[in-house]
Amino acid sequence: SVRVRYAPSPTGMQHIGGIRTALFNYFFARANGGSFVLRIEDTDRERFHPEALQDIYDSFRWLGITWDEGPDRGGEYGPYLQSERVELYRQYAEQLVAAGQAYWAYDTPERLEEMRRQQAESKSKHQGYDRFFRDMDDAEREHYRAQGIPGVIRFKVPLSGETAISDLVLGDISRKNEDVSPDPVLLKSDGYPTYHLANVVDDHLMGITHILRAQEWIPSAPLHVLLYQAFGWEPPQYVHLPMVMGKDGQKLSKRHGSTSLREFIQGGYLPEAIINYVTLLGWSYDDRTEFFTREQLEQLFSADRIAKSAAVFDYKKLEWFNGQYIRAKSDAELKQLLIPILAEAGLIAAAPDAAEQAVLDGAMPLVKERLKFLTDAPEALSFLFRDPQGLTPDELVPKKSDAETTVTALQLALEVLEGFGQLDEEGFDNRFKSLAEQHSIKIGALLMPVRIAVTGSRMSPPLYGSIALLGPDRAIERIRSAIE
Ligand code: GLU
Repeated sequence: SVRVRYAPSPTGMQHIGGIRTALFNYFFARANGGSFVLRIEDTDRERFHPEALQDIYDSFRWLGITWDEGPDRGGEYGPYLQSERVELYRQYAEQLVAAGQAYWAYDTPERLEEMRRQQAESKSKHQGYDRFFRDMDDAEREHYRAQGIPGVIRFKVPLSGETAISDLVLGDISRKNEDVSPDPVLLKSDGYPTYHLANVVDDHLMGITHILRAQEWIPSAPLHVLLYQAFGWEPPQYVHLPMVMGKDGQKLSKRHGSTSLREFIQGGYLPEAIINYVTLLGWSYDDRTEFFTREQLEQLFSADRIAKSAAVFDYKKLEWFNGQYIRAKSDAELKQLLIPILAEAGLIAAAPDAAEQAVLDGAMPLVKERLKFLTDAPEALSFLFRDPQGLTPDELVPKKSDAETTVTALQLALEVLEGFGQLDEEGFDNRFKSLAEQHSIKIGALLMPVRIAVTGSRMSPPLYGSIALLGPDRAIERIRSAIE
């Protein structure tokens, strides 16, 4: 049965492209009744960051995505942290040495330095390791080892021939062996494996059937296939995923906007929106359907709908998805999502009391239609919890209006608000409309100062609902203090 893995290296915060890879693997496993494995590729000890490891767990907990096997869950094929498997990689590397497919090399940094210098000077086409130890006899090799030079195990890349990779999306890809990097290191002098060795050994030992990963890994694939052949193993099926680009056709990066999942979380996105939108980066169900729940994707995802060509990350589109998912929440769900954000902003208690709860309940229908991000809530709702501070007269006078009109507008509003209790929303709107006509004030010039005086913001929820929730008395007070 299908077994796939997400194999992040904990060197930085989870990138949205990595999340895409993980989601494709997860959905591919679910849709095929297979297993999804998390394997942590942490053998590069210089680039390892503990907070990056924690970020992997935090990211997927936030998304609500779980794996069937992994460091935190265990499983039959563990351990799932490569740093706990180091002894195994050494054995496999030595097995290749014994079979004549790899060799110990005892190069000093000075010799490698000199080699590089000469290559740079001669501008020869063949750069990279000069295979100095490749065909050396045992006695001579021992002579170098005995000098105490730390050894590495290097792979004997065949000097001729071609290697074919079969890719489910891209078809067969073939590379000349002479273009594969000359004899890459498998086991480093610190005893840790390189990515290539650990990745191949683990995909084999963990019974991985399909490798879904970004196209940027294609250059490594011929070497990996050669390693499978050297071990006498069958390579898994490759499924290389299209790159994720910014609008300008460059690889997605900071220049385009947020790239780490963490930034999207802090930016007020919902996991549903991220899962839906990110799964459409290089995959489609048909040419029409855009909305998918996680449960639907678990059923519908299929590798034959993965695209060959790059996907463009459209931030505006994701924003739009986010708004749609916010509107799809029930009031109660939305309230639960907003409480920590409003509490963080200091507007309510982390565990709101009954009075705050009641205000929040009233506020949900007002803001749901307007929020693009959960994090818009503090600005939209702060007027319910604190009086607007430090409003300058300038802010109250809308463009295309003047101070005198603004004072008139606020005075008229006071009259309307005195009778607020007798008005429904329509009656309220009509009152302002007829006042605007009577006094020849544009409706915007009439209402905007009222809105700002009452809520402190141009962006607040609908005015009638806002005043109802705040209470007309407090609205009147705020308008009075604005006029003074
Ligand atoms: N550890 C690699 C990464 O960081 C895994 C690549 C692969 O899937 O083979 O993406």
